Amino acid sequence: MLIGVLGAGQLGRMLALAGYPLGVRCIFLDPHAGAPAGQLAEQIVAPYEDASALEQLARADVVTYEFESVPEAAARQLAGRVPVRPSPEALSVAQDRLHEKTLCQTLGIPTAAFRGVSDERELEAAVTAIGLPAVLKTRRLGYDGKGQRILHQAADAVPAWRALGSVPAILERFVEFARELSLLAVRGTDGRIGYYPLIENQHKDGILRLSLAPAPRATAALQAEAEAMGKKLLDRLDYTGVLALELFETPAGLLANEIAPRVHNSGHFTIEGAVTSQFENHLRAVAGLPLGSTALIGHSAMINLVGDVPERAAVLAVEGAHLHLYGKPARAGRKLGHITFCGSDAVTRDAGVAKLEAILAASARG
Ligand code: AMP
Repeated sequence: MLIGVLGAGQLGRMLALAGYPLGVRCIFLDPHAGAPAGQLAEQIVAPYEDASALEQLARADVVTYEFESVPEAAARQLAGRVPVRPSPEALSVAQDRLHEKTLCQTLGIPTAAFRGVSDERELEAAVTAIGLPAVLKTRRLGYDGKGQRILHQAADAVPAWRALGSVPAILERFVEFARELSLLAVRGTDGRIGYYPLIENQHKDGILRLSLAPAPRATAALQAEAEAMGKKLLDRLDYTGVLALELFETPAGLLANEIAPRVHNSGHFTIEGAVTSQFENHLRAVAGLPLGSTALIGHSAMINLVGDVPERAAVLAVEGAHLHLYGKPARAGRKLGHITFCGSDAVTRDAGVAKLEAILAASARG
């Protein structure tokens, strides 16, 4: 079984690693030579729309993607030759924040109030309709908090729009959320769905820093609310693979913020902290194999290593800690790896996180 993967970043690397024990091989297409996945599996180094590269990838049994900004045209071209899972439609929805939020609205999935903005006149009308504070986001190519600005007063709007490049955007009401959560779901080719328990996510400077699973204080009712939202999307998109739904928890209930049609950073803990990792389940799903259990093993935390990697020995000296490095050169703001801590209960997990954060702080001080 050969799986073609568009993108060869760390998500692809972890997909490749999950494939080996199953006898599932991955071949990657990514324009960056020496990409994290290309260091341990075959990589075609070419632009995503390169005809001969797509030809090579079409020899795989099935094609998937690990990066949602791959050109939709490449996925559509491949879909004419080989099954592409999740479908190019899922990719297209996730690439455009206005399509994404409009689909949620159509399906009755609550979101922050939003409005599309394509010029300064529409921007002004949107500010009046949505109210302030609000968040102006580019419709396309935004990630890790890039491509967005918070508007506090009406006078912020035009400068923010221009600073984002005067490109098509979406204006959203600023949500005073209690916390951010994510739901990871996986759907097989037979329509069967598995849900991982809700994960709590903490960000700094727009980048995910810490995930806790299961999310503290997540009730069965909250899990059911999230799963109902996920199910609508999975069914509507006739989805195959892992889908991540980023959520805001508010006193009035959950709001959907973003859909990722792929394995997700908040699910990295599943390598050690779940019966079947999100990577293995994604491969099983797209390969048409039975899904594995999404049950958790104890209480886990995932700490992203952003811009800096601490001393390997110091991390591994913490009992219950696992280190994952992605083989990327260090650069400020770059995700270079992560640490998973698994404990038998939430108290042990929180103590583990505190120890690891002290190690990271000492390492950052140099
Ligand atoms: P996004 O790129 O949409 O995932 O946004 C990145 C981060 O910005 C989110 O994880 C939130 O912390 C914050 N954010 C995004 N949209 C909103 C909003 N409408 N209200 C408040 N915070 C937001």
